[in-house]
Amino acid sequence: MLLAQHLPAESLVGEESSGILADPANRAIAEQTRHYVSEVVPGAATDQVLEWIDRGNAEPGDTFWTLDPLDGTLGFLRGDQYAVALGFIQGGVVQIGVLGCPNLRDASIEDRTGPGSLIVAQRSRGTWTTTLAGSNEYRRLSVSAIEDGSQARLVRSVEKAHTNASQVDLLAEALGSLQPPMLMDSQAKYALLAAGAGEAVLRLLSKDRPNYREKIWDQAAGSLVVEEAGGKITDLDGKPLDFKHGRTLAQNRGVVASNGRLHEKILQAVKKIEKLG
Ligand code: AMP
Ligand code: MG
Repeated sequence: MLLAQHLPAESLVGEESSGILADPANRAIAEQTRHYVSEVVPGAATDQVLEWIDRGNAEPGDTFWTLDPLDGTLGFLRGDQYAVALGFIQGGVVQIGVLGCPNLRDASIEDRTGPGSLIVAQRSRGTWTTTLAGSNEYRRLSVSAIEDGSQARLVRSVEKAHTNASQVDLLAEALGSLQPPMLMDSQAKYALLAAGAGEAVLRLLSKDRPNYREKIWDQAAGSLVVEEAGGKITDLDGKPLDFKHGRTLAQNRGVVASNGRLHEKILQAVKKIEKLG
């Protein structure tokens, strides 16, 4: 809604569309949605809410915003981590990344009671965090300086289908990591990495869906949050994430995000593990 108001000419590529809510059979759910939206936009009408959702139906062009209004849906349903993720892309490169993480304190600590964290990254300007309560005080985030594989804290999805959990375990073993991988939903994982509370986030390809290609809204904001905090993010082959190919990262396989220092070591280990099959 605010994007429509302040940047009416700019296109938005979002994960959601209003199709299900527009179906008369789902009128009660549409009304409930309007009710929740009206808590932040007093007086919002159902048709308006559906229109705002459908602003995200644009096709990715040279310059556009991409929004995942609820990244980590399963985490949200469990009461765990989830994120609102907004990215601004120009010429296939992410220029702005914003993550709202309601269940994360100081961009790194799981806390379901507080206001949560806002994380903002702008290319060449760093990654910054403040509280979702709306303070003007921002703190700059920086990845950890850990270079020793034994100290590496790996982070992966809770949902085994969204990564390759057994390969992540093998990677932890190959690095000599002394602690089991941490499990977390959504791009909150990238906030954790940017804040120096983990050394790597792995999206290895699951055995069931080896040809899965990441959606741009699942990676745009988080990738810049990691890079601008001094980290590195590539696909499993070490290629930069390429946002020039529509709604997916069609030219990239999986994702490795790290504090940078451990990146090469991780890529080498992933290569060996993938060869084992
Ligand atoms: P996470 O919270 O890390 O489990 O990631 C959530 C995102 O995973 C969702 O927004 C989905 O778009 C995405 N997803 C769905 N299926 C897969 C898959 N097979 N591999 C990787 N990611 C997936
Ligand atoms: Mg998502």
